[in-house]
Amino acid sequence: MEIGIIPEIPSYAGGLGILAGDTIRSCADLKVPMVAITLLSDGGYFNQKIDEEGNQIETLVEFSPTSFLRLIDGEIKVSIRNKEVKVRPWCYVVKGATGFEVPIILLDTNIDGNGDWERSLTRCLYGGDERYRFAQEILLGVGGYRILRGLGFTGIFRFHMNEGHAALLTLELFNKTRNNEFVRQQCVFTTHTPVSAGHDQFDLGLVRSMLGNLLPEEIVPHVSFENKLNMTKLGLFFSRFINGVAKSHSEISRELFPGYSIDSITNGVHHRTWSSEPFKRLFDRHIPGWRLDASLLRAAVGIPEEEIWEAHMAAKRSLIDLVNMNSNSDMCEEAFVIGFARRQTGYKRPDLLISDPERLMSIAKGQGPIQIVYAGKAHPRDIQGKEIIRHIISAKKSLRDDVKIAFLENYDMELALSLVAGTDLWLNTPRFPLEASGTSGMKAALNAVPQLSTLDGWWVEGHLEDITGWSIGPKRIVHTNSSDDGEDMEDMYHKLEHKILPMFYADRQKWIQIMRNCIAINASFFHTQRMVEQYVVHAYFL
Ligand SMILES: *Cc1c(COP(=O)(O)O)cnc(C)c1O
Repeated sequence: MEIGIIPEIPSYAGGLGILAGDTIRSCADLKVPMVAITLLSDGGYFNQKIDEEGNQIETLVEFSPTSFLRLIDGEIKVSIRNKEVKVRPWCYVVKGATGFEVPIILLDTNIDGNGDWERSLTRCLYGGDERYRFAQEILLGVGGYRILRGLGFTGIFRFHMNEGHAALLTLELFNKTRNNEFVRQQCVFTTHTPVSAGHDQFDLGLVRSMLGNLLPEEIVPHVSFENKLNMTKLGLFFSRFINGVAKSHSEISRELFPGYSIDSITNGVHHRTWSSEPFKRLFDRHIPGWRLDASLLRAAVGIPEEEIWEAHMAAKRSLIDLVNMNSNSDMCEEAFVIGFARRQTGYKRPDLLISDPERLMSIAKGQGPIQIVYAGKAHPRDIQGKEIIRHIISAKKSLRDDVKIAFLENYDMELALSLVAGTDLWLNTPRFPLEASGTSGMKAALNAVPQLSTLDGWWVEGHLEDITGWSIGPKRIVHTNSSDDGEDMEDMYHKLEHKILPMFYADRQKWIQIMRNCIAINASFFHTQRMVEQYVVHAYFL
């Protein structure tokens, strides 16, 4: 549904889209012949402003596709609500480190001849009502397949669906032969959501009225529940290979969907995209070939400590400049910076760190100053997420001198890179087991920034206490114990006070060794090059 291509193209909202973009970039590096499909979403997810009280103000993005994309021949039609909708393809070509090219096709219905509602369908990412959303999924799955055929991609070997959003593709394949196995031979499905409520489902009445005879009645019992078409079940039912995005998430997915064989391929990030300029230069000097082979980053363990620190301080100065330009927080480069940037929503607990302001102030007084940089959008309908942003803004006013806080507006790919590279500690506080993988901590590791996080998603695999970072709370087990906010808060404050700040301020050498481990141990593994190689071997060529 989304792809993070470049910051200027607004067709992404968050982690799912960035992962898709990173996957495509690594496919281009590895010469994996692939073509990617998404919706144009020229209105974007939204532009975020935060007012004095911390209220989030949302506006549509103004994006002119002609600046970055090429309109190509290959218009097709899809029937939605018994109306023919015209769909046209825009193209963006991703070039790998080897020069190999992977095209991305962005579907657009804003065409003369389509009705107003139909024209609006490829405008808003994750906006609109159920009908709008289901129409988008028809465009992505059914329209995406037809566009590929129209463009001459007739020999496609595997279709890889990321989430249920594109799962209607399977119906288009099924209707050709009415043979389940014919579809299963070709499809691979990756689930990214660890809670059943997070999986798209649509009332069968709505589905039938919008899809018409595209929905084969004989498969409905396999892919529906309580009179709803479940898009994840549709993807699972028709796929030969299914995976979750981290080991822990795959275990959870097996419990959510018993009866399916669910593999695990842990996410990664694209190494060249997510290393800051100072670290790119550092790697160029010490690890020749790292641009083509991310696994070589293991050799970071031999980079002198001073050079790691210098590269980090260069990235930190850029961030501090950016923060001071965009807020009145007056931060300085000597003081410790904690970064927290991701979707602002309840389960990620963005305000856990500021939940006891007195405690935080006393830690800063005893151990040294603390600066916190926040960023992230709340979904327009996420009331709790918006409340959290207000909470952060009010804490910023009351804490002021001892603990400086800045909230940077309009989190996007560009800001994400500044943040993951320029902070000293990357904080992540999801409530177990709700973070499927998480990838921003991997980006931080690539820039030698250690993570403090609950043991959920990829951190279960990436965490080595006092070696690559720190955990918050105990290792939890599905269903038997979910996170306890009080216990996690206590552990987080305890580690900041007794381990992390004392080491940062008083044992810089030990601190830099941990920074270096982040690259050598974690960045050399949690990259999309390794991930794509696993998809090729285990999913595509299986
Ligand atoms: C990496 C990234 C994300 C995902 O971060 P998580 O920690 O996985 O939530 C979201 N948005 C942007 C802009 C990113 O770059």
